[in-house]
Amino acid sequence: MNREFFFFLIIAFLILDFIVDNYFEIINFKHRLKPLPEKIQALFSLETNEKQLNYQKDNFRFGMIVGSISSVFVILVVAFKVLPLIDNYLRLIIENEYLLTLTFFGLIFLLSFIFSTPLEWYQTFVIEEKYGFNKTTLQLFVVDKLKSLLLSVLLGGLLIFVLVWFYNQTQNLFWLYAWIFMSAFSIFMMLFYSNLIVPLFNKQKPIEEGELKDAIMEFCKRAGFKLNDVYVIDSSKRSTKTNAYFTGFGPKKRIVLYDNMMEKFTNEEIVAVLAHETGHNKHRHTLYGLITSLISSGITLFLLGLLMNHPVLSKVLGNDIASFHMSLLAFGLLYSPIELIITPFSAILSRQHEYQADAFAAQYGYGPALKNALVKLSADNLSNLNPHPFYVWFYYSHPPVVARIEQVEKSDRVTK
Ligand SMILES: [Zn+2]
Repeated sequence: MNREFFFFLIIAFLILDFIVDNYFEIINFKHRLKPLPEKIQALFSLETNEKQLNYQKDNFRFGMIVGSISSVFVILVVAFKVLPLIDNYLRLIIENEYLLTLTFFGLIFLLSFIFSTPLEWYQTFVIEEKYGFNKTTLQLFVVDKLKSLLLSVLLGGLLIFVLVWFYNQTQNLFWLYAWIFMSAFSIFMMLFYSNLIVPLFNKQKPIEEGELKDAIMEFCKRAGFKLNDVYVIDSSKRSTKTNAYFTGFGPKKRIVLYDNMMEKFTNEEIVAVLAHETGHNKHRHTLYGLITSLISSGITLFLLGLLMNHPVLSKVLGNDIASFHMSLLAFGLLYSPIELIITPFSAILSRQHEYQADAFAAQYGYGPALKNALVKLSADNLSNLNPHPFYVWFYYSHPPVVARIEQVEKSDRVTK
């Protein structure tokens, strides 16, 4: 099969991806108006319900417009062979292979940064503002943007530099060295994310003295979790939305609660959410997540290595000279259908983990409080109460609130 065949295959994949994405978004959007089970409907006020529907409508419209423009843009760029043109032009002025690759990716990054920044501004200061979520000031928005720009340039630049070095040194075994390096990097990031990255954007503090701390301490004792690993983060400086998460593993694990929770939730509800996060620790979910991601990145890099050494595929985008950056882009495009197939499997696994963590909280007697917390969370965050089952199956990392409430009630009955 020749280069043209694979080139058209890439265009076909891009179009397929665009159609699949839009199809899912549209069926999901239409499904939101289907009636909920009466018992569930009774948990949410009519006003909340109406607000939720409007919020979804605004986000759907915005997402469809942005998604369509960017998909069409990418399809045109690939179809008209703009990438090899840029590659050829840069080769005229830059001889050094490292500098060439860094400049090439730098240009793509800069373009997407310029495209996405006004959209993020709109999302934050128009849509989120309209529903009362936004607390970000323009100054904070700009500072955040500059910080993440610097971080991406430094970390992204370093990663690309090391990968190009492996590519130049170890042609056939490139994938293996790259995999070892990337694995070490992701383990490091997972361990030190809370210490190195989060403090650039947020403050994390231990729980303050008081009734809540006492309640948490009592639960931690029962569940065998260290109180020192529980933190409150100042999420309220950007948004009124609420959440909590579990991160890291081993001695570097921590549970982080959003400070917005302290105002809106009762102590028992907060402990219930904490119990859910402890469930993730008990069942070693972050460790399993890490292992699956290491295996999948190993397979991905092995396939990337095959493409890089292939005389046709490494030049499929229309470039005459095979290079790290053109191969990586070609691979990303050819790999997208495989990624599409993997998506639902990782979503299924993640949803199972959520059910396990919920069941863990219920086991400790926090079923009813967790149910209340889930209702509050989805009412406050205006989550979609009625997503399309197919959309959920494909994309959702967390089960929809209705399914979680039903499952918590079930495990409560079993415990009793
Ligand atoms: Zn969870």
